[in-house]
Order: sequence, then C-alpha cells, then structure tokens
Amino acid sequence: MKITDKTVVQFHYTLKDEAGEELESSHAGDPLAYLHGHNNMLVGVEKALTDKEAGDKFSVTLQPEEAYGEIQADAVQRVPSKHLQGLPTPSAKWKPGMTAVVNTEQGQKQVTVIKAGKFMVTVDTNPPLAGKVLTFDLEVVDVRAATDEEVEHGHAHGVGGHHH
Ligand code: ZN
Repeated sequence: MKITDKTVVQFHYTLKDEAGEELESSHAGDPLAYLHGHNNMLVGVEKALTDKEAGDKFSVTLQPEEAYGEIQADAVQRVPSKHLQGLPTPSAKWKPGMTAVVNTEQGQKQVTVIKAGKFMVTVDTNPPLAGKVLTFDLEVVDVRAATDEEVEHGHAHGVGGHHH
C-alpha cells in the first residue's frame, strides 16, 4: 500500500544537521505514527513520504523553510517566569540555554531561555531547530488505511499515535 492521504504511516527517522551530526532518532523506541495529509508532520517530510511503501528507506534534506523555518529576529520576548513550564525540579531556577514550554493561544511552544530575572524571563521563541538545514534518514515501517475515527479526529491512533 502506498502512502496517500488518509493512510496512517509508521516510520523511523534519524535527524542530522548539516555537519552530519545526529540530533534525534526514533530507533530506540516505537516508530512514529501519523495520519498522512492532515498537516501532522513537517511539510518536507510529508512530501518526501508521499507514494512510498513499507520497507522503503531513503533520505531527504530540507531547507529551513520546509522544516522549522528561518530564524526570526523579533522572536525575543519577556514573559513572567510563572508562565514557563519545564523546570527539572520545582526548586530549580531558569538559566540561559535551558528549554522551557510556554502556553500560547496557538498551543504549547518550546522556547529557549536567554536571560532569567526574578519575575521575568527573556526567551527566544524560535524553534530550537529553526534556520537549520536538516537531513532525515527515513524508514517506512507500516502503511495502513486510516479508520473513519482517525480521519474525523485528524490524527493517528495506536502505536506511536494518540491515545485517548
Ligand atoms: Zn483521536
């Protein structure tokens, strides 16, 4: 079965930067599962997977605009520290370089701490991988037709997908 809209795809990936350094990999755990054609995946990855089948292994290199976007210069914001989540322990303090999660109107967003004061923290809201040319080594593990429920929800259920 080929990957088309309304199929649920399971795949493994290894993500590398331009220097070939590994940034992330799914191989230690379950493959990732997603519903194809519903904007659940990076645009460039979804495009590369279209029409592929289980067992296919290939690589795709994405420019920033097909991946996490260019670095935005106006992405630095000051937010109250109580709005940041993700401290390793409740008594820990925010330090430059740490990654935090902020709830926004568009959902949760990952940010990087630039400067931490007592009540306000300066954060960079660019995604950590913004501005990078990324190579994905992809391996399609399984392709199946989506259930009506999955199409209705707009996401995959089961292994690697959403659990309700
Ligand atoms: Zn669901």
